[in-house]
Amino acid sequence: MLEDKNNNSSITAVVQATDAEHHLHPFTNTGALNKKGARVICKGEGVYLWDSEGQKILDGMAGLWCVNMGYGRKELVDVATKQMNELAYYNTFFQTTHTPAAELAKEIASVTPGDLNHIFFANSGSEAIDTIIRMVRQYWAIKGKPYRNILISRENAYHGSTVGGTSLGGMSGMHKQGAPLVPNIERIRQPYWYGEAGDMSEEEFGIACAKALEEKILEVGPDNVAAFVGEPIQGAGGVIVPPANYWSEIQKICQKYDILLAADEVICGFGRTGSWFGSDTLAIKPDIISMAKGLSSGYLPIAAVAVGDRIASALIEHDDDFNHGFTYSGHPVAAAVAIENIRLMKEENIVEYVGNDIGPYFQQKLRETLSEHPLVGHIEGVGLVAGIALVKDKETKELFPSDLDIGMICRDHCFNNGLIMRAVGSRMVLSPPLVISHAEVDELIEKARICFDLTLESVS
Ligand SMILES: *Cc1c(COP(=O)(O)O)cnc(C)c1O
Repeated sequence: MLEDKNNNSSITAVVQATDAEHHLHPFTNTGALNKKGARVICKGEGVYLWDSEGQKILDGMAGLWCVNMGYGRKELVDVATKQMNELAYYNTFFQTTHTPAAELAKEIASVTPGDLNHIFFANSGSEAIDTIIRMVRQYWAIKGKPYRNILISRENAYHGSTVGGTSLGGMSGMHKQGAPLVPNIERIRQPYWYGEAGDMSEEEFGIACAKALEEKILEVGPDNVAAFVGEPIQGAGGVIVPPANYWSEIQKICQKYDILLAADEVICGFGRTGSWFGSDTLAIKPDIISMAKGLSSGYLPIAAVAVGDRIASALIEHDDDFNHGFTYSGHPVAAAVAIENIRLMKEENIVEYVGNDIGPYFQQKLRETLSEHPLVGHIEGVGLVAGIALVKDKETKELFPSDLDIGMICRDHCFNNGLIMRAVGSRMVLSPPLVISHAEVDELIEKARICFDLTLESVS
């Protein structure tokens, strides 16, 4: 029993001690965390969380970019309860299906762009990415070109942390651990204009970054490349919005060499950028996309790969099994929650709200309030996702020394002042629930301003 209803402090201490004794945390220095104790999160409602000390926190990250419809949605709880009572689990391997899996596939197809009308289910973004890796390679094998098995992705991309996701991603800190990686993956530079373009205009830089794809294709041989994979807007890499011409150039190059284009929509999907998918916002026409985070608003783990006609018809017409899948592919309870989540999004016009109302308001207010701040080098973002570059010198874009860890200093000030904002190196990122109100955006940005002041004081 970890609960002691009369004494919050002792709840905190008891949970922290138990956690320290037995829980290994993801992406965490667990030894260091154990010494200081993890914050214990107890309750969520709307855009707010409460910790075991009773502190109310505005969640500027929607959990981990996923609680799009906000915390405490009873509709999602109720469908989960109903589905658990009716059929808590059955698989989709044994030539069997069930209503939630079939219905959810149809619902997803109703919101995906273009001809992405066939759905493969997984339980996490990483599994969806592993599915894409195996599926595009299998596609080319079916087409009699098994040698077309190289995937090209980008530096500082995040595609999850399974062996496949780690290998496809471009996070150097991850590549160092648990090697060797999956072979036949190549990477090109990221389209990070503010940080890496030197004197180039956005347009010139967009062309240069796309050209890097063509150069890589020619280097490894066009006939060896299966697919290019990218996040429409890089998320965990620090929220990096590519130059406006970047994706159309990438698309042209993929077409020229007959290379499949995969969009990792795990963050951008389900309204985050003001359209159902980032591919809609950025005018990308992918052959295949992965989705996860916003699909169930994080209420249960579920992910999917939406497959366009080209790949789907090859798989369907090929008279053999696709030997891939997960025990919980299309889990009925998770699927029922995702169906209800999509229904709620449609009923409440959330995508339009992000695209035409709260997204533009958030982006404008962020710039109005923070652009002039001495720590802020650059703000970029679309809809309800944004990245803020913290710099030592606004003019020269000089960064703080990395051992100072300016992002962590800022993140701690935020946490201590009732706001969750994530640090990615020296970039601060925001991705609040899509249901956030205007008043809550005002509160979020005012809190951020105060915490940037505190951060400046800490380093002055
Ligand atoms: C989070 C994320 C993943 C991995 O998803 P998990 O559910 O954590 O496995 C993959 N791709 C992108 C773009 C992500 O943001």
